[in-house]
Amino acid sequence: MIPNMHEAEPIPDAAMTEIARLFASGDLFRYTAPQDAPVALLEREFASLMGSRYALAVSSCSAALFLSLLALGLRKDARVLIPGFTFAAVPSSIVHAGCVPVLCEVGENYRIDLADFEDRLADIDAVIVSHMRGHTSDMDAILALCAARDIPVIEDAAHSLGTTWNGRRIGTLGRVGCFSFQSYKLVNAGEGGILITDDADLLARAVILSGAYEHNWRKHGVDAALEAAFARWQNRLPLYNLRLSNLSAAVIRPQLAEIPRRVRDGRRNHDRVAAAIDAAPWISVPQKLGPEERAPDSLQFNLVGMTDDDVRAFVAAASEGGVSVQVFGLSTDNARAFWNWAFLGDVPDLPRTRAMLMRACDTRLPARLTPADCDAVAGVLLRAAEQVMGAVRGYGT
Ligand SMILES: *Cc1c(COP(=O)(O)O)cnc(C)c1O
Repeated sequence: MIPNMHEAEPIPDAAMTEIARLFASGDLFRYTAPQDAPVALLEREFASLMGSRYALAVSSCSAALFLSLLALGLRKDARVLIPGFTFAAVPSSIVHAGCVPVLCEVGENYRIDLADFEDRLADIDAVIVSHMRGHTSDMDAILALCAARDIPVIEDAAHSLGTTWNGRRIGTLGRVGCFSFQSYKLVNAGEGGILITDDADLLARAVILSGAYEHNWRKHGVDAALEAAFARWQNRLPLYNLRLSNLSAAVIRPQLAEIPRRVRDGRRNHDRVAAAIDAAPWISVPQKLGPEERAPDSLQFNLVGMTDDDVRAFVAAASEGGVSVQVFGLSTDNARAFWNWAFLGDVPDLPRTRAMLMRACDTRLPARLTPADCDAVAGVLLRAAEQVMGAVRGYGT
């Protein structure tokens, strides 16, 4: 039996107790309590979990990306380099910040093509590395290329909570890291996001921009560096009011303790299904990079030697078996296919990224699946490929 892979995990009971308390007092706004509001506690706990100095919780990861760009103080029409394989919200946050998205190629392994990245860096003001579906690009190379040119790096770590690179947490490698609490991510609050940074000036700007009007910034656990930064920026920045509600924080906080288990089980499930299906001649699962320890809650793989019609037949056969697969480039109006980002005006062509998107499959694979569930999912995918491509011709040959 194939489990329902779109069903979320239940929210821990502790959230209910806190929500009942908030309901009884009506204290839902993060700046009502003089201190220790649930949102402020979330920020403290998340920063400590990640080993970063500061955190700012906001309404979404997109809001966190937007605020990061503004907080960097980029010039108007600044050029921001992003991978051509990401979610439409990423170039959207750049447009929203009055900047210009520039796309670079992504390889068959879903990671930034470094040669193309370097070629495009000359007139770039900032980089957003979107670790799409939690696949980490070569951060050593990217950080070195950007440091040499003094280009700030924002990490879009929406799908990378729990991922490490050389033992360091993704989201702490760039100047600022942004995470999502939207329902399809590792921690589910329906909506929500958070940014982390060690940069006091950047944090102070982001806090004010996020809607800390008057002296509400005092409720952000102010240290001496922040105090000076807030004094510099008081009344000098517009307020975009992208704050998080205490209710969302109450839903998120008890899930933080669940992260290690979700990461461990998600990786176990992913690696089990990946190994099983990678044995088929028509399926290839890209390897993780050496320094990377992944935290997957979904599975991506490439179909090999199939025509577009074969790919469509594979998707139909998998769906028949109870496993929903999307091919990023073949489903209509997919928000992760760059040619659908018509709001950019001119969309460049990225032939390598396009070719990858036409064969890259995406299926959810939640941490709560059992090994038996995973074997059932792998079985459906293998049979679907066999059904489309004919008799098994001996795996691995
Ligand atoms: C989900 C996602 C976002 C957007 O997150 P929101 O919290 O929904 O704004 C951005 N980037 C990536 C890679 C994502 O997966």
